[in-house]
Amino acid sequence: MTAHPHNPTSRWTLEELQQLHDLPLMELLFRAATVHRQYHDPNEVQVSSLLSIKTGGCPEDCGYCPQAARYHTDIEENALMTVEQVRTAAERAKGLGSSRLCMGAAWRNVRDDDEFDQVLDLVRTVNGLDMEVCATLGMLTPNQAERLAAAGLYAYNHNLDSSEEYYKEVISTRGYEDRLETIGNARRAGLTVCSGGIIGMGETVVDRLKMLLTLASLDPVPESVPINALVAVEGTPLEEQKPVDIFEMVRMIAVTRILIPSTTVRLSAGRKDMSPEGQALCFFAGAGSIFAGDKLLTTPNPEAFADMELFSALGLKPTQAYAKGERPTPGNDPGRPTEKQRIKWSRPGHRIERNEAKRK
Ligand code: SF4
Repeated sequence: MTAHPHNPTSRWTLEELQQLHDLPLMELLFRAATVHRQYHDPNEVQVSSLLSIKTGGCPEDCGYCPQAARYHTDIEENALMTVEQVRTAAERAKGLGSSRLCMGAAWRNVRDDDEFDQVLDLVRTVNGLDMEVCATLGMLTPNQAERLAAAGLYAYNHNLDSSEEYYKEVISTRGYEDRLETIGNARRAGLTVCSGGIIGMGETVVDRLKMLLTLASLDPVPESVPINALVAVEGTPLEEQKPVDIFEMVRMIAVTRILIPSTTVRLSAGRKDMSPEGQALCFFAGAGSIFAGDKLLTTPNPEAFADMELFSALGLKPTQAYAKGERPTPGNDPGRPTEKQRIKWSRPGHRIERNEAKRK
């Protein structure tokens, strides 16, 4: 493998990556930890908080997601949160050590309507609290990305989830191309990109590695790559998937670390089921961030205290906000697009039997 001057990660072949993935674990860990030290402070881990600003009722059919309206799950639906609710949640998260707030809305795509204007106010509010503001709102047009950037958004999350081939086995209402298009729109608007995937959905290791290769081929590469372990929720098409083995997770993190050395690898969903020792291995393999829970509004969030205990036991420090970039200064809102400028997203329209079965 020869390094590329602009994108040192882009020259890995699938075979090379598979060999790396299959190394004896201690060898893989040593290599990943070595790369991690070259690019990051190994004793710092960013605490990010996830806040669901609009929950449930989503028209999409993502096989892993309890927020899809078509599946029968116990999710409690919530309308879009107000500025005051978000400010309270953000201040609380900050008080518990979070330097980044990721606001998620269960939408297929952003619409040019009053709710989006409200989201822009939420972004301005959190930006004013000196936290990194991330949003995950579904598909995004260039104009919407520019409006978010002007409001002070720092990062846009849009996961690839899996390889292009396996994506079609999990989601039928959106195409992979649209994912990449949204990522490109966010990037062109000057936002940093957060994009990763989920393991444990029934995909092969090759699917996982192909997804990583796609992420590594983006130029520039995403600043943030969340690696999620599927949380199999009753009522979703993937409810019967077995939990992800901790060593599979560690391998995935280590390979991501080596393939995209500059990115922050985020240990995301599924962490609650990991032991402290398992999490420590993930940090050693190159995970540089964790997500704290999303129930910050109404519950004391005891997990946050357990996280601080783990940090203390491992001698880890939480990363400060904007350690890797400037805080965006809110600018002039370019405003909604004209009728002519509106973009319609495609619908791939293939069928996934297990999704259809769950719907019924
Ligand atoms: S688009 Fe998001 S909220 Fe909607 S079903 Fe998929 S993962 Fe869930």
